[in-house]
Parts: sequence; C-alpha cells; structure tokens
Amino acid sequence: MSLVFYSQVDNADDWRAALHAADPALAFHAWPDCGPFEDVEAVLAWKAPPGFYRRFPNLKLIINLGAGVDNIVRDTTLPAGTPITRISDPEMGRMMGQFLLTCVMRHFREFGTFERARAERRWAYVHPRETRECTVGMMGLGQLGAVAAAEFVRQGFRVLGWSRSPKVLPGVETFAGMDALPAFLAQSEICVMLLPLTAETENLMTAERFAQLPRGAKFVSAGRGRTVDEHALVAALRSGHLSEATLDVFREEPLPAAHPLWDLPQVLITPHLASVAIPRTAAAQIVANLQRVRRGERPAHEVEPARGY
Ligand code: NDP
Repeated sequence: MSLVFYSQVDNADDWRAALHAADPALAFHAWPDCGPFEDVEAVLAWKAPPGFYRRFPNLKLIINLGAGVDNIVRDTTLPAGTPITRISDPEMGRMMGQFLLTCVMRHFREFGTFERARAERRWAYVHPRETRECTVGMMGLGQLGAVAAAEFVRQGFRVLGWSRSPKVLPGVETFAGMDALPAFLAQSEICVMLLPLTAETENLMTAERFAQLPRGAKFVSAGRGRTVDEHALVAALRSGHLSEATLDVFREEPLPAAHPLWDLPQVLITPHLASVAIPRTAAAQIVANLQRVRRGERPAHEVEPARGY
C-alpha cells in the first residue's frame, strides 16, 4: 500500500526524505508517478484538483498538506466516509505566531509611518506607548490562532479573541459567536484575521464590520482572502477609517497587478507565506495517523467537512 503526494508548490523530495525517516517502509509516490490506483491508501495533498481523491478506490486517509482545508471540503466528489486530516505541527504554529507578532509589532511600533516618512526624508517622531495600552483582537483561536494570541499576551498587549465556540485561553478576553462580534470589533485597535474559509466566514469582513472597528484601526489578514470584502477594505483604507493593513491572503492570488490595494502606501502585501507545513516536523504526525487508520481507529486532528474546518 502506498501514499501519494500531490503539490504544485511543495518539494516532493523533501517530503519523501522526511516520511522515510519516520517510516522507512512507507511507499511514497509523487503524483503522477503513483502505480496502481488500488494500492493507494493515503493521499498527502495541497490543492489537488476536484475529483482527484475519487480515483483511489481503497483510500483510507486524506491528509491536507497545510492547515486550511477549504480547497478539499468544497470538492463535491470526495469519497464518502474517508477521514480528512490536516497538518497539525507546533512548528507551523510557531511560524504563524512569529509572522503575526511581526505584523502586530510593526503596526504598534509605527514602522509603516517611519517607512513612509523615510521616503520623503521626513523625521516623524511618534512617542512610544506601552503594549498594555493597545488592544489586539484575534479572529480565530484555533491551532495556529491560539499560538499567535499567546505571543501577543507574552508581549503585554491587551488581547481579545473571537471564535465560534467559547474558549478559555490564559490572558485572553474571549468572545464567541456572531452576537459577540460587534463588541469584539469595537475594541480591536489592531485586528488580526486568521479564520478558515467556510460558508459562515466567507465575506465576513464587510463595510459594516470594518466600520465597527475603532477609527484608525489596523487590519492584518492571514487566514483566507475570501473572508474579506476587498472593495470594502480599500474604501475603509482610503477614508482613513483603517490607518494601515498587512495582507498575506487575497481573493485572487497572485494579487493582480492592477488591484487597487497595490496603490495604497499604508498597505504591506506579503505573498501568502505566513506559515507553511514543515516536512521534518510534520512527518511523524502523518505516519502516526496512517498507523491509526490501518488499525481501524480515527486519525488525530480530523477535519469536519460539514463544519468546513
Ligand atoms: P483551526 O481550524 O484550528 O481553527 C479555526 C478557528 O476559527 C477556531 O478558533 C474556530 O472556532 C474559528 N472559527 C471558525 N469558524 C468560525 C466562525 N464562523 N465564527 C467564529 N470563529 C470561527 O485553524 P488554524 O488556527 O490552524 O488556522 C486558521 C486558518 O489560517 C486556516 O484555516 C487557514 O485558512 C489559514 N492559514 C493561513 C496560512 C498562511 O500562510 N497565510 C498558513 C496556515 C493557515 P472554534 O475554536 O470555536 O472551532
């Protein structure tokens, strides 16, 4: 039995080496060189095309090569009953935590102001504040979001967190559900979006919701582009209601050259790289999950397709 690897962006040789280190007996095949389809028991894939998984009649496990599973769960041809897992790796959390802390710190310490002033040879003194005077709102308190929230707490910010179900996290004032969203947004001076893309979160950040953020708020987006109405975002930035943004994810990627976000000097654009799956540290989790399904057990970190994440 074998594992098939599919990705247009990840290096198959790195994953082969890491998985063989964790299980030397594992038969690893990089698509399209994958032998008989009947022999495939697991697929490790990033953004496989719709219908891909259907090919393998004895598939026991679908492993999303990353955290966001929106691409898999919207495939209407998924084999019924085959469990889906995602990479769940502390190193991936650390990478997301460091990225989001960098974004938040850059906004908090006014580096954008200094970069814009530097371009005009202008000395722009802004008196520093204590972190406790600044409220950071974290949208999404999942495996990656909770790590980022803990980083903000460690730096001394007042930290709010918003999720679907109630959560208890050290140092974080938590809010749950749609009813609590306006109160959460109204206090989030730096608002960090790290929600999965689901039927409920698609277009969540509308003009009305941006208006609920405090005037001059800063917005960081690293979950999925389609959770944000980009026209509303551009309008909120142009009006000054939002003073700055850092955006890692977009409705269309790569962001088209003509997109108005490129014209806004107060927007930092990064090319969807906040965090990635790391073969060296994720391989053991993949092998352990394969062993679980071979024993007839449920895998760890299972995705709920109906919930969308
Ligand atoms: P998880 O699936 O572990 O957690 C998702 C979080 O979002 C949970 O706290 C969940 O609430 C919350 N949530 C989901 N739906 C809603 C809703 N309708 N209302 C309120 N809260 C909601 O995700 P991760 O933290 O691991 O990752 C988050 C996302 O980050 C991924 O789905 C992916 O899209 C994106 N990502 C981006 C990367 C990048 O490089 N830019 C890299 C990796 C991931 P609850 O806790 O109640 O379930």
